[in-house]
Amino acid sequence: MGQAGQNEFLGLTSRTKAQAQNVFSKQNGGTEEETRLLHFTYYKMSQFWKPGTEKPQILDDEEGGILFFSAPPSSSSRFGYSSIEKQRQRLPVYKYRNAILYLVETHATSIIVGETGSGKTTQIPQYLNEAGWAEGGRVIACTQPRRLAVQAVASRVAEEMGVKLGEEVGYVIRFEDLTKPGATKIKFLTDGVLLREMMDDPLLTNYSVIMVDEAHERSLSTDILLGLLKKIQRRRPELRIIISSATIEAKTMSSFFNTRRANGKTVEAIEPRKDPAILSVEGRGFNVQIHYLEEPASDYLQAAVSTVLSIHDQSFLDPAPQHCSRLFVLPLYSGLSRADQDLIFSPTPRGKRKVIVSTNIAETSLTLEGIVYVVDSGFSKQRFYNPISDIENLVVAPISKASARQRAGRAGRVRSGKCYRLYTEEYFVNEMSAEGIPEMQRSNLVSCVIQLKALGIDNILGFDWPASPAPEAMIRALEVLYSLGIIDDDAKLTSPIGFQVAEIPLDPMISKMILSGSLLGCLEEVITIAAILSVQSIWVSVRGVQKEMDEVKLRFAAAEGDHVTYLNVYKAFLQSGKSSQWCYKNFINYHAMRKVMETREQLKRITQRLGIALKSCERDTQVLRKAITTGFFANACRLEAFSQAGMYKTIKSSQEVYIHPSSVLFRVNPKWVIYNSIVSTDRHYMRNVIAIDPSWLTEAAPQFYHHQRGEKVAY
Ligand code: ADP
Ligand code: MG
Repeated sequence: MGQAGQNEFLGLTSRTKAQAQNVFSKQNGGTEEETRLLHFTYYKMSQFWKPGTEKPQILDDEEGGILFFSAPPSSSSRFGYSSIEKQRQRLPVYKYRNAILYLVETHATSIIVGETGSGKTTQIPQYLNEAGWAEGGRVIACTQPRRLAVQAVASRVAEEMGVKLGEEVGYVIRFEDLTKPGATKIKFLTDGVLLREMMDDPLLTNYSVIMVDEAHERSLSTDILLGLLKKIQRRRPELRIIISSATIEAKTMSSFFNTRRANGKTVEAIEPRKDPAILSVEGRGFNVQIHYLEEPASDYLQAAVSTVLSIHDQSFLDPAPQHCSRLFVLPLYSGLSRADQDLIFSPTPRGKRKVIVSTNIAETSLTLEGIVYVVDSGFSKQRFYNPISDIENLVVAPISKASARQRAGRAGRVRSGKCYRLYTEEYFVNEMSAEGIPEMQRSNLVSCVIQLKALGIDNILGFDWPASPAPEAMIRALEVLYSLGIIDDDAKLTSPIGFQVAEIPLDPMISKMILSGSLLGCLEEVITIAAILSVQSIWVSVRGVQKEMDEVKLRFAAAEGDHVTYLNVYKAFLQSGKSSQWCYKNFINYHAMRKVMETREQLKRITQRLGIALKSCERDTQVLRKAITTGFFANACRLEAFSQAGMYKTIKSSQEVYIHPSSVLFRVNPKWVIYNSIVSTDRHYMRNVIAIDPSWLTEAAPQFYHHQRGEKVAY
């Protein structure tokens, strides 16, 4: 098996290792998936539900939201060690401890469904550790789709176990590894990071149990991971997989593991059982009353604010004029700094009421204590990709019923709660879709394809996906990768570019930019740009001082565009001695700059490992922009000649796009630009824009673009 064979490949790069071992590339008529589904729902201590009898209800019908109000009296989470023990025992999952351990012992895959807050994420890894699954240097992994959740649950578990984070309990997110090899027993990581680890260790031999958490979210990486784990299981029967999910979506997962059942193949009774077990953790808290609007809201933000204030008014019997000052309002989103995260989890100050304004990260990924009221806007930001226009953007889109239920479920944990839905009941019943669309089916697949290729999976369309991606999206991805020189005529990774790109944990377009930067002698600059593009924004936005902010921005602004402007900011930041004061004065986000420096160091290390030269182009921005073009040529746009309004069209698909007001090129409108990403509100706006010369496009991607009649470039 894998382990023995691995040494033979030590001389090869990690990618070739995965390929040479041929771990995944065998696709012909799998025999591995003959998993027969056994509904194995546990609902009373040591009494199991048997197939063929009536199944107990898994989840009941309460529903969910996006702003959270915790009760003013503190339900403090600061307890001493023994209280933590007691608190652990009070969690719904505790009653199932033995059942879970039994299932994991006897089944290759266990699916555990339990509502948010029941203790799946924080407890199950500890149970496994207590039962010895981390003995002999083995590691228990628990994946999360979100980085913030990885950090939060890892610190919580370390706290519960009374150990220092980074020792027995650690975490890994992209560009941040807080584990200690040899000491770490429970490791939280993003599913994306686990996929990357697979490139070095295709069979994930370090892990005894892998818990794929929040599977109901159906993130792109979760789905890829599940497809691959299914294959790994065939080679490593001793590996245990736990799929945990907050919703009934688990059924999709079970049928995924059950696809071969229709073929009528039978499974021998061998240890461990290959048929997945499903366990449902029961245990609702209190009743949650649902309120709907009578008329649809025209502005959900306004509606949310007034709902919050009226809840606040009603529940304070003496609505003193200063009562608003009793509100303790905190934002919660994935880019939040560690200090701000701590505030979210810390007890509410006396006499105050906490209001948490959250993205859907609080829908299931994070458990916040003491929520009594939920206000559900009915929207979330979702990624949508259109393979025809080749535009992927984040749009504020309606949520599904399943999400609405999750949101409501966040109230009523400590006492009966209320959920205010900012939409009508009629809308909920008749118009909301039952489930969300898996990310796999609404994403740009470039990164996904390259990762599978790096693992030696060449027949990507024939891959056993939990949800099949759209063929158009797949074709687009192959096309872009081909033009980037990452895959060859046979759709195999090229050497060295393709393998090197796969090695860099960034969007392939950025990775390509980095590699070209090395060839063109501006690696110093491109890694700075890559690091800056990997944070949400380096600017802080402060309301009411837009004019001052714009003036400050002008000091750094470069006529070439945002990327060069960022370099100016970075240089000035270094010159200031990395001063937080300087950041404050210049409306620069100090935390983001720290993150940029860390990421840049990591990228430097990666490029050193790849053996590529770290050179600076000094002030030659043309070389730099050429390097950017080699990565982002597919995002080229041309200003419409007769447009007064700064309208551009993408070269590839003639989509109408505009420069985002946050760009230094807003209103400057150079004739030819390339952008980094699109955000769509009333229009498609290009973010991070740089001016280019159209001849660079044909230079960078001759197959993709070719000259026609003078300077007109056609796709
Ligand atoms: P699940 O994964 O089932 O949604 P978790 O394991 O995340 O549940 O959380 C279980 C319980 O642990 C929560 O109900 C909450 O009481 C507590 N908890 C989790 N994370 C934290 C935290 N960071 N601070 C305080 N309590 C927490
Ligand atoms: Mg969880």
